[in-house]
Amino acid sequence: MLMDIESFSLVDYPGHIAATIFFGGCNFRCGYCQNPILVKVEEKSRTSPSDVIDFLKTRKGLLDGVCFTGGEPLMSPDLPPLVLAIKGLGYKIKLDTNGSQLEKLREIASNLDYIAIDIKADPEKYDRLTGCKNSWERVNQTIEWVKKSGIFYEFRTTVMPFWHTFEDLTKIRVLLGKETPWVLQQFRQPPQGVLDGKPYESYPDSWLKEAGQKLNCQVRGLH
Ligand code: SF4
Repeated sequence: MLMDIESFSLVDYPGHIAATIFFGGCNFRCGYCQNPILVKVEEKSRTSPSDVIDFLKTRKGLLDGVCFTGGEPLMSPDLPPLVLAIKGLGYKIKLDTNGSQLEKLREIASNLDYIAIDIKADPEKYDRLTGCKNSWERVNQTIEWVKKSGIFYEFRTTVMPFWHTFEDLTKIRVLLGKETPWVLQQFRQPPQGVLDGKPYESYPDSWLKEAGQKLNCQVRGLH
C-alpha cells in the first residue's frame, strides 16, 4: 500500500536530491525494524498515486530523483504503474528492497536506475531474523541477478551485536566478492521502539568503522 511521500531528501538516493515514497506492508518481520508502522500498516495512507504524480510534476527541475522505500515496495500493486509514470516525468528512480521478490523486481527493472538490497545477516541466521522460511534462498537469487543486471546497485547491512559478529560479516563479504559494493549501516535504536519491542544495542562507531575498513565497505550512520 502506498503510504506517504517525503518531499525532499539528500540522503535516501546517493548523489541525488530526491523525494522519498513510502510503501506499507512487508513479508519479513525483522525484530529490529525501525518502521513498524509500515510493516503492520495500521495507519491510513496519507497520499495516493495521483497525488504523488501531481506533486512530482510541480518539482521538475528542483528534484532529480525518487526513492521508493518501505516496508517492501515490491509487494504493492501501485508500484509498477507509479514507476512507469514517474520515469515518464524524467526522474531517476531508486528502489530499496529486501530482495525477496525477484520476479516483481524484474518486471520493473528496465525503469530503475539504482537498486539497494538489504542483506540482513549470515545466511544461516536469515530465516530466524526475517521470520520467513527460505528467505536467504530468495534473496540470494536476487543478489546474483542484480550483479549481472547492468543497473547500479548497492548491498547494505544494518549491523548490531545481537545479529552480527565480525565473522558473520566476513562470511557475507566472501559471498558477495571482495569488490562488490556493500555498505555497513550503524543501528540506532529509535525512540518509538522497534518492531519486536526489544532494546537492541549498537556497536561503538569505532568498531563499525574498523570493520568497514577491514571488509572494504563504506560505513553509514556514524556520529
Ligand atoms: S527491516 Fe525492512 S524487511 Fe525487515 S520488516 Fe522492516 S521493512 Fe521489512
